[in-house]
Amino acid sequence: MEEKSIETLGEFGLIDHLTRNSKQFSSSTHLGIGDDCAVLMANDEEHLLVSKELLLEGIHFDLTYVPLSHLGFKAISASISDIYAMNGKPTQVLVGLGVSSRFTLEAVDSLYEGIHRAAAMYGVDLVGGDTTSSVSGLTLSVTVLGTVAKGKITYRKGASVNDILLVSGDLGRAYLGLQVLEREKAVFMANPTIQPELDDFDFLVKKQLMPEARKDVVEVFAALGITPTSMIDISDGLASEALHLCKASALGCVLFENKIPYHEDVVLNAETFGLAPLTCAMNGGEDYELLFSVSPIDYEKLKGNPHFTPIGYFTDRHVGCKLQDNQGALHEITAQGWRHF
Ligand code: ADP
Ligand code: MG
Repeated sequence: MEEKSIETLGEFGLIDHLTRNSKQFSSSTHLGIGDDCAVLMANDEEHLLVSKELLLEGIHFDLTYVPLSHLGFKAISASISDIYAMNGKPTQVLVGLGVSSRFTLEAVDSLYEGIHRAAAMYGVDLVGGDTTSSVSGLTLSVTVLGTVAKGKITYRKGASVNDILLVSGDLGRAYLGLQVLEREKAVFMANPTIQPELDDFDFLVKKQLMPEARKDVVEVFAALGITPTSMIDISDGLASEALHLCKASALGCVLFENKIPYHEDVVLNAETFGLAPLTCAMNGGEDYELLFSVSPIDYEKLKGNPHFTPIGYFTDRHVGCKLQDNQGALHEITAQGWRHF
């Protein structure tokens, strides 16, 4: 058997390993590790939601092409996305900042301009954090708090066989945007007199640099009186997130290749980067769209809604998690998982 190491465990194996013996000491912890947010008892009507996001320079972002204001905005969006994934409403954020002396005051001002802009957009208050010097590079951590009515809370678990799987927006744009930025960086490194050509890739680059969490989707659910049966936000690619829902709900699923929604710029440009749109959607990431399921009855209320695309359905777990290609053949869905180590 392969010896256990951080590398062989991977991201989710490592989290399982580190938390396998955690005990619960507080009676107000309703749900600990394992979903997009932890769920804490608040009052008779509501639960409290809390989640944390950690972003490291050189791992999650490259400041040669990521403007600091965009980074601040993205850090808030990425953390708030986990509140929406529980069908909740974000209320407060706390920001942890590690910054080295290579950053100017102007630079951190710019980071906070993005943080404040996002806070205003989502209607959340910045209520605290922590600041420290760092040996090198920038570290940014965001803790987000939110609330959700007890009857509306949506977990990764809870789906039933034949529930319809839907996705908001379109997929793959953020990953392709990253490829555009990496390509322009390589060109610039080779010849600094060449200016980056980003104009044709606005929709891709913007989605990568400044993704917006889907506040509107949770509002549509409320307006239509729908509570999804399961939900997760797409931070790591559709494959990984679909597997999370299946595992949590103890079900299988079938997704249809020809149903996955793409922006036309993904269809137009993927090939130039040696990628298929399907790869960008399944194994890319950072789209911050929502993947969720509804009962066939609730699906009637969402049919034809331009915000959502039905991409598959839940099955018995023995079917496994499958992608049906355009010829009708079924393929096992596999997640690449962690790419950072
Ligand atoms: P997401 O992609 O929604 O942010 P993750 O896949 O990062 O979720 O995390 C899965 C679960 O593991 C979450 O409940 C998260 O809070 C928990 N988790 C992640 N890292 C740690 C850690 N170092 N210690 C304890 N719990 C963790
Ligand atoms: Mg999540």
